[in-house]
Amino acid sequence: MKLIKVEHAYKIYKNGTTAIADLSVTIDKGEFVFVIGSTGSGKSTFIKMLYREEKPTRGKVIVGGIDVAKLRNSKVYKLRRKLGVVFQDFKLLPKLNVYENVAFALETLGLPSNEIRPKVLRAIEAVGLKEKTRNLPSELSGGEQQRVAIARALANDPKLLICDEPTGNLDPDTSKEIMKILDNINRSMGTTIIMATHDKDLVNRMKKRVLVIEDGVLASDVKKGSYKVHESVKDSK
Ligand code: ADP
Repeated sequence: MKLIKVEHAYKIYKNGTTAIADLSVTIDKGEFVFVIGSTGSGKSTFIKMLYREEKPTRGKVIVGGIDVAKLRNSKVYKLRRKLGVVFQDFKLLPKLNVYENVAFALETLGLPSNEIRPKVLRAIEAVGLKEKTRNLPSELSGGEQQRVAIARALANDPKLLICDEPTGNLDPDTSKEIMKILDNINRSMGTTIIMATHDKDLVNRMKKRVLVIEDGVLASDVKKGSYKVHESVKDSK
């Protein structure tokens, strides 16, 4: 079943920059897909259109049956309830502990309070942070902070997890740890994962489907297991 359907999507920013041009792609439920390309190629813009941080200028972006371009601001919550987002810089609230950071996200989605506690505890356990439930972000390592961000994104059981350079601030060993968690989530919960990254070694190792974006265009769509770094992306940062 198709979870994401992008048809001839364009994103032209107000200053005239064409960040995405005529991009079409479909992604099935349960897939794990990398999005790679050099800096400025349009990875973030593509990903932002999926959670409607940006609207496509032209074309269609359908996520979980919702037409993102047509979605009114007042209805964006309907889309956001279906997905979780993980960022490079974690974006945790510094004065809230691990539990409160995850719970706050569910409160924002408007969940009834009696549903929040079990969801929060399950999500924290899923990322292996049960022992750190009451710690503040400043009391955690970078990898642990990213695990909190993953727990926060997963707490409402979304169908889709969008990750924008989630290992960008982490050392290679910690990145591997985070990838293990994401792979596990994808396999055990069937959550569809879309992850933008620069890390070629990681992409080579994981053997997933890879979308290569170059100058806003989908340059290749490499099926699961067949991807090997090629010259055009070798020097991307
Ligand atoms: P990547 O994530 O691959 O580094 P981006 O999607 O961030 O690429 O950027 C794609 C292009 O769009 C770049 O030329 C960038 O400068 C431009 N761009 C990104 N965001 C904006 C914006 N808000 N306004 C204008 N141009 C932007």
